Amino acid sequence: MEQQVFGGESQSLRHARLVAPAMWRGLLGRCPHCGEGRLFGSWLKTVHACDHCGQVLDQHRADDFPAYLVIVIVGHIVVTAFLSVESAYELSMTAHLALWVPLTVILSVALLQPVKGAVVGMQWALYMHGFGGHEDTLDTHPEA
Ligand SMILES: [Zn+2]
Repeated sequence: MEQQVFGGESQSLRHARLVAPAMWRGLLGRCPHCGEGRLFGSWLKTVHACDHCGQVLDQHRADDFPAYLVIVIVGHIVVTAFLSVESAYELSMTAHLALWVPLTVILSVALLQPVKGAVVGMQWALYMHGFGGHEDTLDTHPEA
């Protein structure tokens, strides 16, 4: 079985890319390479390439990972807030629904693009998928 190694520092011909700054630039909707160009052409669709440095950006494979992260983040925020309010105040079921449902929707919509940008930045920094300079192929079953 081929060993998979992630991270620029362990790639012999590649210089290490710092993960945290790349994720931060992605979080801000900027190109993870230069931090100047836009990362997104529309709400969740990345641009083909950075208009400042030319880094190709549409080779990421973020897939559903940003949505999973948003669910975890929003779940922790809303459940913590719900339990805090519930223990301090006595609200009706209607008041709870009027409070937590919109908060959940607003937080989810607000966080999805920044979280996807951070995931794309992480994939770029770690040379994952199309950012590794080679064609990204789907893994097949070993016996297929
Ligand atoms: Zn760029």
